[in-house]
Amino acid sequence: MGDVSGDAAAGGTKATILPIPGRRNILITSALPYVNNVPHLGNIIGCVLSADVFARYCRLRGYNTIYICGTDEYGTATETKAMEEKCSPKEICDKYHAIHKEVYNWFGISFDEFGRTSSPQQTEVCQAIFGKLLVNNWLSENTMQQLYCDTCERFLADRLVEGICPTPGCEYDSARGDQCEKCGKLLNPTELKDPRCKVCQTTPRIRDTNHMFLELPLLRNKLEEYINKTSVAGSWSQNAIQATNAWLKEGLKPRCITRDLKWGVPVPLERFKDKVFYVWFDAPIGYVSITSCYTNEWEKWWKNPENVELFQFMGKDNVPFHTVMFPSTLLGTGEDWTLMKTISVTEYLNYEAGKFSKSKGVGVFGNDAKDTNIPVEVWRYYLLANRPEVSDTLFTWADLQAKLNGELLNNLGNFIHRVLSFIAKPLGQGYGSIIPDVSDADSHGLTLGLAEKVGKYVDQYMESMEKVKLKQGLKSAMAISTEGNIYLQTAQFWNLYKEDKPSCNLVMRTSAGLVYLLACLLEPFMPSFSQEVFKQLNIPVERHMSLCEEKGDIERAKQPWKILPSGHKIGTPEPLFKELKDEEVELYRDKFAGSQAQRIVRAEAEAEKLAAQLKSTNVSGSGKKQQAKSTGSKSKAAVEPEITITRLDIRVGLITKAQKHPDADSLYVEEIDVGESQPRTVVSGLVKYIPLEEMQNRKVCVLCNLKPAAMRGIKSQAMVLAASNSDHTKVELVEPPKDAIVGERIKFSGFEGEPDSVLNPKKKVWETLQVDLATNADLVACFKDIPFTTSAGICKVSSISSGSIR
Ligand SMILES: [Zn+2]
Ligand SMILES: [Zn+2]
Repeated sequence: MGDVSGDAAAGGTKATILPIPGRRNILITSALPYVNNVPHLGNIIGCVLSADVFARYCRLRGYNTIYICGTDEYGTATETKAMEEKCSPKEICDKYHAIHKEVYNWFGISFDEFGRTSSPQQTEVCQAIFGKLLVNNWLSENTMQQLYCDTCERFLADRLVEGICPTPGCEYDSARGDQCEKCGKLLNPTELKDPRCKVCQTTPRIRDTNHMFLELPLLRNKLEEYINKTSVAGSWSQNAIQATNAWLKEGLKPRCITRDLKWGVPVPLERFKDKVFYVWFDAPIGYVSITSCYTNEWEKWWKNPENVELFQFMGKDNVPFHTVMFPSTLLGTGEDWTLMKTISVTEYLNYEAGKFSKSKGVGVFGNDAKDTNIPVEVWRYYLLANRPEVSDTLFTWADLQAKLNGELLNNLGNFIHRVLSFIAKPLGQGYGSIIPDVSDADSHGLTLGLAEKVGKYVDQYMESMEKVKLKQGLKSAMAISTEGNIYLQTAQFWNLYKEDKPSCNLVMRTSAGLVYLLACLLEPFMPSFSQEVFKQLNIPVERHMSLCEEKGDIERAKQPWKILPSGHKIGTPEPLFKELKDEEVELYRDKFAGSQAQRIVRAEAEAEKLAAQLKSTNVSGSGKKQQAKSTGSKSKAAVEPEITITRLDIRVGLITKAQKHPDADSLYVEEIDVGESQPRTVVSGLVKYIPLEEMQNRKVCVLCNLKPAAMRGIKSQAMVLAASNSDHTKVELVEPPKDAIVGERIKFSGFEGEPDSVLNPKKKVWETLQVDLATNADLVACFKDIPFTTSAGICKVSSISSGSIR
């Protein structure tokens, strides 16, 4: 509970944390996210956020704690992605590592080190472990048969082979080496008829290749001894024990630990010089190597089982790698490694009706969350309150709204704000911001009753958190807020103030103590919220809060009137949460429906809808009652003209002035000359992608007949066209040639006709056509294969090929 009145505790400078004998030393890892995608909310709650809550809790308790994570970068998937994006695996990793880092940073994840597995340290640790396994005779060498491409001079990973599906009746001609996408059958690449290399299209041949195998059967006794002992001592969850037993029951087989790839940790044997370690072998070693990037004395954490407790967080699909494979690897070295004590496993978080899916782009992604107006503490609260601890849970916007408005706003936020704003009132109505002095609580039954309940909840909180039952911990903390509200209501402090000042003093000081206590207990869950509360309480950050046993903090928590000293002056109270309205929920549900790709297609229309809905009272005329759910095609009348590209009015425009939107960080407001008597005002969400100076005085392609829509208070009268890459991390303007005439219409060869004066949003003309707007391999902006053409030539982008234009 921190010394509110006393000395400044350690904060500020970040010294390297090492285990201290005799103290609780906690090493926390979360499963390393694979690098080639943007993480979605399911991934975030599944590992990094859960581990973060536990790490923050441990620090709060004064345990000596580090939290290690990073991106898992090696393997076929990265190589394949690099081929698709026509760059090197390293470039893919650099790019996505940065995206991951940014997303976790936004979520307030408190890593002590967030590293990557493609580091020299990884090679060093991985090769050293391999060396020990070899010397100890836990490895064997075996010959396998694999497809080899002579043209590319490489063995082909399963996914890099295509051919005819061998299944009778299917015979799909582009079945992948690992699976036929048409009939769904799992395949071995050597089973394909007429196999071909996906890269160069030539026919590969079968070639022998030697690989190293970890002899799990020989390690069985050591492994079972570890599992039996630790699953009890570390109270492994049922789902972890089940997944582990399922593996053991199937019988342990030798497992191949090498691969014919280039992107990986090299196998340190002359005859294996073209091979690397298989990713399941090297990925968990990443925990160790990333720690070695954190401190040279990493062995004090990792080879110190007597003094260090290892807690690992992951999704359920990762369990056997952490309970069977990784311990076997470490046990096989014969060294004294810190093995996992407690495993925390999450099931799946499902999205509205379906599963979150990275490959299909379904759900809310880490980078989407920050684009909503919903603050990070709300996201964290919702995900943690909904943490899939024992079974799958469901993410729904309606539920998020209910939890925000009901639990955060009406319960927690309301309690804190009521207390602080009453104390802040001037003398005569309140306390002039000063925490009052109190005589004693002994005679005040109501307060004693409250203290008893709070004490119980604090104990429950501690008990749950120690067992990594985060959801229960959160519930116990929130129950204190509920008790606080009941206490305020029962005490009727506004009457007491006039009738029984001493009792009122006690009630307010006790309640202020609860506010502080809540900020402490909830810090692991919502650090940004707690910071705000501490600010409003006027308690400087360096007087760090804690829940340390030895400092007596826990005992003090049970006498809440003793938490804050009398005479302390609080800061300025402000509401902590904002209501989420029905129309916003409707909007988000629409915005995040379907896959990420479909969403990009619809994004512009959505932005318009958002503006129109939020400003519905200002929108005049026929579009007044725009229905969010309108389906368009349903009511298509027979007379509706054909949707062709000529219905769009795309013109060459000149940006005469560009500036940032006064009320939205992501938007520019431009004045664009499109050949009319007055320039048009256009709002574009390009701040993240294009520097302001590059917007000035530039020729652009402008869609001029969209229905005007207000965007954060400014009416946008057109849309600047830009291309974006597949994951929308890069956006570039579609540029007409220098000599194109301002105001001239963009033409598409073979299409003639006048544009609509204003596109009717209900007919989805733009949305329908937009799907076929893209840049080609030569960076030319096209409708299908037809270039955007001006009197001075075609329109291009600077670097994005196959980018969607909107
Ligand atoms: Zn098939
Ligand atoms: Zn090839």
